[in-house]
Parts: sequence; structure tokens; C-alpha cells
Amino acid sequence: MTLLEIVNVEARYGDLNALFGVSLQISAGEVRSVIGANGAGKSTLLKVIAGTMPATQGSIKFNGHDIKGLSADKRVRAGISLVPEGRRIFPSLTVEENLKVGAYSKRKGHWDLNTIKALYPLLADRWDRIGFHCSGGELQMLSIGRALMANPEILLIDEASLGLAPVVVAQVYESLSQITSQGTAVLIVEQDMRQALKASTYSSVLLEGRVVLEGKSAELNENAIHKAYFGMGDR
Ligand code: ATP
Repeated sequence: MTLLEIVNVEARYGDLNALFGVSLQISAGEVRSVIGANGAGKSTLLKVIAGTMPATQGSIKFNGHDIKGLSADKRVRAGISLVPEGRRIFPSLTVEENLKVGAYSKRKGHWDLNTIKALYPLLADRWDRIGFHCSGGELQMLSIGRALMANPEILLIDEASLGLAPVVVAQVYESLSQITSQGTAVLIVEQDMRQALKASTYSSVLLEGRVVLEGKSAELNENAIHKAYFGMGDR
């Protein structure tokens, strides 16, 4: 069943068009990836889905309903949670307090403080540490955990692996299968194409605001992806 469907979406910063006619679909419980270099429009795409930035054209449907006019807050309540780039948590609050903030939408579901502890044992060991003193990996897990506390139907993750040690990246990616096993879909946007392809069933390559290649992750040709990613193919 299609959970999220975006069709011909455009978005702009003033005179700069950052997305041109982007379309994609995500099914319930699926991991979907969008890969692209710096400035390709990945964060913009997630902001448009989460409602923190308006789409200037196109349609965004969630569970069959048009959500283009909904505020970001209402989209969280509808079941869309964003893990923003830069892991913006509250530095003066503890791990536990940060997680509790994520539950403000009061959506019911599998995720609560105990299930997040089980998902990320590292966080369980840092329960009373304030955000300011958390490592990059801890912050990423905390940021994902906080978004999960809203019990989303779809989790949007902006640059899951950026700046993290490979062992932490592996832990974060391993957690995705536990998240989808609860029925939550995950949309990851990444510069790290290898990780994203491995984790997802379907991928799109974004270049300068346009989808230039897409397909089943396992079937995409590595050479074609490289060309699309760096804009060396036919356009
Ligand atoms: P990164 O990995 O660097 O975050 P990205 O693929 O997420 O890259 P976006 O952040 O979505 O890319 O940026 C897409 C385009 O929009 C880029 O040309 C960028 O310079 C521009 N842009 C992004 N944010 C703003 C902003 N606040 N004001 C103006 N232009 C912006």
C-alpha cells in the first residue's frame, strides 16, 4: 500500500529553485533512499515532506490524503517525523528528557522510553547525560529515538551517517530493520550511496534538484549511479 506519494514537487529559496518536478512513492514499512551530492536538494525534499518548507508546486499525499496545506506540527500528529540534519537535540536536557519531548504528539504505538532503550542500548547507558556531552553517535541515536517517540508511520532521516565513525554508522543502519519491523517506513537521504543502497529497497539519485536515476536498489548499476550522482550522464 502506498503510504506517501509525492508528484512533481517543486520548492524554492527566493529565486533559487531547489527541487524540479520530483516524484516518489513509499510503501508502508519500506526503507527508501534518496542519494545525492552536497546541495542536490535532499534536505529540501525532506523539509517539504515534513512541512517545514512549502512546496511551490506538485502534490503530497499521505495515506491517500492531500497534506500539502498541513503545518509541520499537524504532519507529526498525522505520523510523519523528521530526523533533521545536524541532530538538533536540546543540549541542556538529558537523554531521557530529550526523548520525552518527542512524545508530545501523543500518538500511540510501539515506541516509548523502554523500547528506545532496547533499540539503542548505548543510550540506555547514557540516560542522565545532558545532550551537550553526548558524542556524535549518541546524538544521532537520540535524534532518531526522539523522532520515534512520536510513533510515526514514516521516519525521514537526513544524513544518517554524516560525520560518524563506521562502527556507529553500522549500528544506526542496523536499527532500521527493527524500526521497519514495527511497520514504520523510513526515507533516508544520504551522500553515502553505498550505505543507502544496501539498506533500501528502492533508490533515487538527486542531482541539482532533479531525480536523474531511480530503481530497485539491488538492480541499480554502480557505474550508472556514479554518473548520475556526479552529473556525468545524459540529461
Ligand atoms: P547537503 O548535503 O549539503 O545538505 P542537500 O542535498 O541536502 O545538500 P539542500 O540543502 O536541499 O541540499 O540544498 C539544495 C539547494 O538549495 C542548494 O543549492 C543550496 O545551496 C540551496 N539552499 C539550501 N538551503 C538554503 C537556504 N536556507 N537559503 C537559500 N538557499 C538554500
